[in-house]
Amino acid sequence: MKPPPFEYHRPASKDAALDLLGSLGDDAKVLAGGQSLMALLNLRLARPAHLIDINRLNGALSQIGSAANGGLSFGALVRQRAAERSSVVGERCPLLAEALPQVGHHQIRNRGTVCGNLAHADPASEMPAIAVALDGEMLAESQARGQRTIRADDFFRGFLTTALEPDELLTEFRLPAWPTGAGWSFQEVSRRHGDYALVGVAAVVQLDPQGTCTDARLAFTGAAAGPVRVREAESALKGAPISADAINAAAERVGPAIDPQSDVHATAAYRRHVAGVLARRALREAAGRATRGARA
Ligand SMILES: Cc1cc2nc3c(=O)[nH]c(=O)nc-3n(C[C@H](O)[C@H](O)[C@H](O)COP(=O)(O)OP(=O)(O)OC[C@H]3O[C@@H](n4cnc5c(N)ncnc54)[C@H](O)[C@@H]3O)c2cc1C
Repeated sequence: MKPPPFEYHRPASKDAALDLLGSLGDDAKVLAGGQSLMALLNLRLARPAHLIDINRLNGALSQIGSAANGGLSFGALVRQRAAERSSVVGERCPLLAEALPQVGHHQIRNRGTVCGNLAHADPASEMPAIAVALDGEMLAESQARGQRTIRADDFFRGFLTTALEPDELLTEFRLPAWPTGAGWSFQEVSRRHGDYALVGVAAVVQLDPQGTCTDARLAFTGAAAGPVRVREAESALKGAPISADAINAAAERVGPAIDPQSDVHATAAYRRHVAGVLARRALREAAGRATRGARA
């Protein structure tokens, strides 16, 4: 199918893009990698009168930044594949490096952007789960109100819905410094490699040298209308010695805490079950990596 008619804009600067977004607002959509938006247009599920193609705004928006405090930032035009191949991302955020190869296929990641994926807010996407697991932040910018920072927890509002206003551009995604010695794991189940996850989980575990869990993060994709952290499971682990029993007890808290949907791919009951199984696997792997990290 072909998309409905639209007026195409290709601004040469961020200010020009913000100008257009300010004047066109609800009638316009930002075009980044196009890997989700073009499908929506072709299926006539979106009918914006204007497309604002931001692909000319290179420079800072194409950069992966590494802050002196250990944090990372991804400009609006950083492709998923660039993040996946970045040695800085591998060193500073191994969880993201592990999850990115599971986003579609490399042809999609060559064009798809990290920020576009977050702005699209598909409930089955990997990156929103990582953003909430790691307490990431979004930098949004508009001509009328300037810049604001939105915590990942507040950014995702439900199915394909975020806190971005129609006149705002997501200019940067930020991750704080990786917690020292933390272990990680990203696990998902999908029907075929490259498909969206039926359910996926991002886990981070931090241990002290005695093996007591000092921090645990567990965030799911495919388990609700948006990414969801299961704090009941996290708090079951925190402050206690890490063990198989402790991990099993935490994983059992997952099913009752999530609200997955049934669709043509899987029932809610199946997703709930798989979420518990993946939580156990991911926590085991993260704890194992943290044990090795704590001893290093
Ligand atoms: C076959 C296929 C398989 C896929 N599998 C997966 C998968 O397994 N996991 C997964 O997570 N994704 C998957 N995707 C989606 C892919 O990751 C997309 O690249 C991503 O969701 C959107 O990024 P994009 O840069 O292409 O954004 P676009 O498609 O250009 O835009 C998507 C939406 O975000 C908005 N937007 C984009 N950038 C900005 C910005 N900077 N500021 C404000 N709004 C913005 C657009 O207006 C639009 O509404 C798949 C896609 C395809 C085609």
